[in-house]
Amino acid sequence: MEEIKENINEVVAPESGMNFVEQEIAKDLAEGKNGGRLNTRFPPEPNGYLHIGHAKAFIMDFGAAEKFGGTCNLRFDDTNPQKEDMEYVNAIKEDIHWLGYDWGDRLYYASDYFPQLYDLAVRLIKEGKAYVDEQTSEEIAKQKGTPTVAGTPSPYRDRPIEENLDLFERMNKGEFEEGSMVLRAKIDMASDNMHFRDPIMYRIIKTPHWRTGDTWKVYPMYDFAHGQSDYFEGVTHSICTLEFVPHRPLYEYFVKELADESYCPRQIEFNRLNLTYTVMSKRKLLQLVKEGLVNGWDDPRMPTLKGLRRRGYTPSAIKDFVKRIGYTKYEALNNIELLEHSIREDLNKTATRVSVIQNPVKLVIENYPDNQTEFMSMDNNPENPAEGSHEMPFTKELWIEREDFMENPPKKFFRLSPDKEVRLKGAYIIKCTGVEKDEDGNIIKILATYDPESRSGLPGADRKVKGTLHWVSVPTAVEAEIRDYDRLFSVENPGVYDGDFRELINPDSLRIRKNAKIEPWLAKQIKPGDNYQFQRLGYYVVDPDSTEERPVFNKTVGLKDSWAKAMKK
Ligand code: ATP
Ligand code: MG
Repeated sequence: MEEIKENINEVVAPESGMNFVEQEIAKDLAEGKNGGRLNTRFPPEPNGYLHIGHAKAFIMDFGAAEKFGGTCNLRFDDTNPQKEDMEYVNAIKEDIHWLGYDWGDRLYYASDYFPQLYDLAVRLIKEGKAYVDEQTSEEIAKQKGTPTVAGTPSPYRDRPIEENLDLFERMNKGEFEEGSMVLRAKIDMASDNMHFRDPIMYRIIKTPHWRTGDTWKVYPMYDFAHGQSDYFEGVTHSICTLEFVPHRPLYEYFVKELADESYCPRQIEFNRLNLTYTVMSKRKLLQLVKEGLVNGWDDPRMPTLKGLRRRGYTPSAIKDFVKRIGYTKYEALNNIELLEHSIREDLNKTATRVSVIQNPVKLVIENYPDNQTEFMSMDNNPENPAEGSHEMPFTKELWIEREDFMENPPKKFFRLSPDKEVRLKGAYIIKCTGVEKDEDGNIIKILATYDPESRSGLPGADRKVKGTLHWVSVPTAVEAEIRDYDRLFSVENPGVYDGDFRELINPDSLRIRKNAKIEPWLAKQIKPGDNYQFQRLGYYVVDPDSTEERPVFNKTVGLKDSWAKAMKK
């Protein structure tokens, strides 16, 4: 307790940088609500993989608990056996751990509360606060009215309590078909809040549940399960997204059936994360996977945490991004460039620099001794000299990028062209003396001479040339595959499209290069998940598809930071 109090004094000041949710929590703690306890929860439904929007939510839930010395529960909201699966439960746990959070011994399932929820429903029936409705869902929807027109009471609204009790019991025994009956709360068909117009509490589902088997044939709706689950667990702050604002009165209505002044959970809502060029709806992400429009939940083009990880994103970059966009009360569309800015900043500090030729053409240095190898020292990370350096073999035959040569260059082309000089990074200045072509006129070899006095580090190295190219020595190069990604959707906000969102998929979002050449030092240490900066090309990560013979890399992001540039303007 003492510790919590001290934290509050520290963070309640405006300069603390607390977001509005944290301020609310700090106030409640300072006022001693719920005995000064803080217990949050993250409540995923195990019907899909977590995406970066969920990360925004659980960074808040676990983060606030950490900040104020409270606890955070992980609760699977497994109230719909038709869509849920164990596979998702495990994936969700892994992803939360990946971002560095842990629920300790506070792992819960909404299905654990089915008995208590059922008992509460029975109690409400006995108190005349719930009834069994035999209308179809269409009829019920029609009677809801509109925000300005009151709803119409169901013809079953006033059926006797005994009949309601009997029917509800028999619903749960499986005597009635799915969709034939529901249990509804009897609240107010004329309420301004549509959620109060006799909301459905229970529906019949006959699919067995992955945890409770066929014990239950009735399953609680979100609104009847969520607040009570919070209550049963001792959750004090139930933090969720803005679409639940209109549900809050109902949350409070059901919770009041259980709570007293000494302890009552409280719902607080913040804005969802929406990203440009991205769909975030679980239903659509599932469709992309099921229809093979991407290569699984962990496809590097997906906004799932598994996809982002395979793309080379780090937990710290994701947390940094979430911090930058913040938590507010207003919906917004966030620029994906800002996310890319966060990963670039992170990797610029940490990623080892290596040489890779993605679209190779051979360069032959005619005046370099045939069987000679020199070892050139390359900085591992100029941003951090403590990371040291490694050696790269230099030989007569080298791979360079095809795009770094032009036979008839425009004026400002400072790379290689006939009779022009460039520096080979960390090595010599060379001059192009000619090219060799195949019978179709394609360049197969570029010829050059080198200036032996110009080796980096020697006095002759001072001589200035405009361009510097990266290179890889031919005899020791290892062939690799590079997967280059573009945005999965070609419009800025695919989430709000009226037509079929699949029409918006960018047909060119994946480009595979099969014969990239990587330096031998890199080839020797391939480990899936390791991040690198390929000189002049961008940031890349080792893909789990890699084998010792054939490394595979995913491009995380390019070097150019359009976000930083836009901010400077
Ligand atoms: P659905 O309920 O439609 O299946 P969902 O994305 O809401 O999808 P849940 O498993 O219910 O999935 O989400 C768990 C928590 O994550 C919820 O509290 C929800 O508010 C939060 N959440 C979901 N999407 C986002 C988002 N884009 N930004 C922030 N929080 C989100
Ligand atoms: Mg949800």
